[in-house]
Amino acid sequence: MAGERYDLWIRGATVYDGSGGEPFEADVALRGDRVAAVGERPVRAGAELDARGLALAPGFIDVHSHDDFAVILEPEMDFKVMQGVTTDVVGNCGFGAAPFGPGVMMAQAFHPGASFEPWEGYAGYFEALERAAPSLNVAVLVGHGSVRAGCVADQKRGPDARELARMRDAVREGLEAGAVGYSTGLIYEPGRNASSQELIELARELAAAGGLYATHMRDEGRGLVDSVLETLRIGASVEVPVQISHHKASGRDAWGLVSESIKRIDAARAGGADVTADQYPYTAGSTMLAAVLQNAFEDREGGGLGRMRGSDVVVSSAPGHPDYEGRSLSDLARRFGLDAEGAGRRVLEQAPAAIAVIHSMCEEDVQTVLAHPATMIGSDGIPSPGKPHPRLYGTFPRVLGRYARDQGVLSLADAVRRMTGLAADKFRLAGRGYIREGAFADLVLFDPGAVTDTATFDDPRRYPAGLPHVFVNGNAVVRDGAHTGARPGRPLRRS
Ligand SMILES: [Zn+2]
Repeated sequence: MAGERYDLWIRGATVYDGSGGEPFEADVALRGDRVAAVGERPVRAGAELDARGLALAPGFIDVHSHDDFAVILEPEMDFKVMQGVTTDVVGNCGFGAAPFGPGVMMAQAFHPGASFEPWEGYAGYFEALERAAPSLNVAVLVGHGSVRAGCVADQKRGPDARELARMRDAVREGLEAGAVGYSTGLIYEPGRNASSQELIELARELAAAGGLYATHMRDEGRGLVDSVLETLRIGASVEVPVQISHHKASGRDAWGLVSESIKRIDAARAGGADVTADQYPYTAGSTMLAAVLQNAFEDREGGGLGRMRGSDVVVSSAPGHPDYEGRSLSDLARRFGLDAEGAGRRVLEQAPAAIAVIHSMCEEDVQTVLAHPATMIGSDGIPSPGKPHPRLYGTFPRVLGRYARDQGVLSLADAVRRMTGLAADKFRLAGRGYIREGAFADLVLFDPGAVTDTATFDDPRRYPAGLPHVFVNGNAVVRDGAHTGARPGRPLRRS
């Protein structure tokens, strides 16, 4: 190493290397976009960063994001990089960026009024990502719902042979362009109309390409265990890796069922299946209000979200009607002189893209899922206007601070592993997720005693505390707790 030139020497940090192993004190040197040395004292470096007292971890990988369009519209991605996220996986819950038409319909739900230069397929979307040059890296899932919307004439039925062939072509195009897998959203239109068989047919493309199957399952309420079994069947029938999205039991009468779903996951893993999950660390979820009404009110037995009460559902974004934001359907029902479902309908008539926070889970279940070794961290953040669920700004520091340090649900080294190495291995992000020589220099420095989320439901747009420095591909995107404006992120193609 003598005489070698480094760009930056990070001195004296406690290194959590992403493997889950014991942390160790080391100096880490960067050159270009890479980690060039670990544990050796570089002879010469362009700059030094005194990191004594701080933890140094690989940059966090948000395996469950909905930032497909935010990375183009708001490429500095402050709400993610300020919490240490250096890679976003987009295209979750069946909502993908291509074909362009259905993709942009989703964009309108999260970014009302936004417009885009059209792109052709996922190859075109990857080019759009390159042009946008966001502050963080982006890996992509093909969205089943968007593909279905673009290829099937009548969404209430299954595809005919010709439509199915077009769907397979669209999934293959995405995988060939570099997508890491495909996702489904089986409570949403149009994905909820798909049979297991349709999903298996499409998953054959994954098996050929080496991609994974990520799923927002049909039912996270009382049907949770059946949904897990369907997911495992799909994975097993084509032998593809499976990712259960935002693993939870939703709705009071489903609470506790995560212990049963975990048993099924563990049994499949013991049998050799590659099954993992992700989770956001909150007892509330969030989704489009239209889907809440369809899944938690219309289906009287409790649909995919389980049964909700009006007081459980809070409007978080209602474009053009900010006075509804922060109000529950019970509140609005009193104001309108309607029942809760009727109040929801009234809001939707006036703001069709309205989004809601749903207080649907219990704390014990959140901790049970988080304690499970195959659970990764995914924010599921919705980058919408109004008062978005605080997971958009707080997910990663909340796991490190509240759940690892304060409550001991998992060790800090394990928490880091769930956000980094485990995610990079599963999503096949080569060179990411670990601190080792030759790895990409996606790095976070945080204060283990101080790291914490500060975003709340009432005041969600608050940056976390205790994460002073974040690097993406060797460039500082956060320095001394402030965004530098740097945009060194790259689209990550499946490796
Ligand atoms: Zn979802």
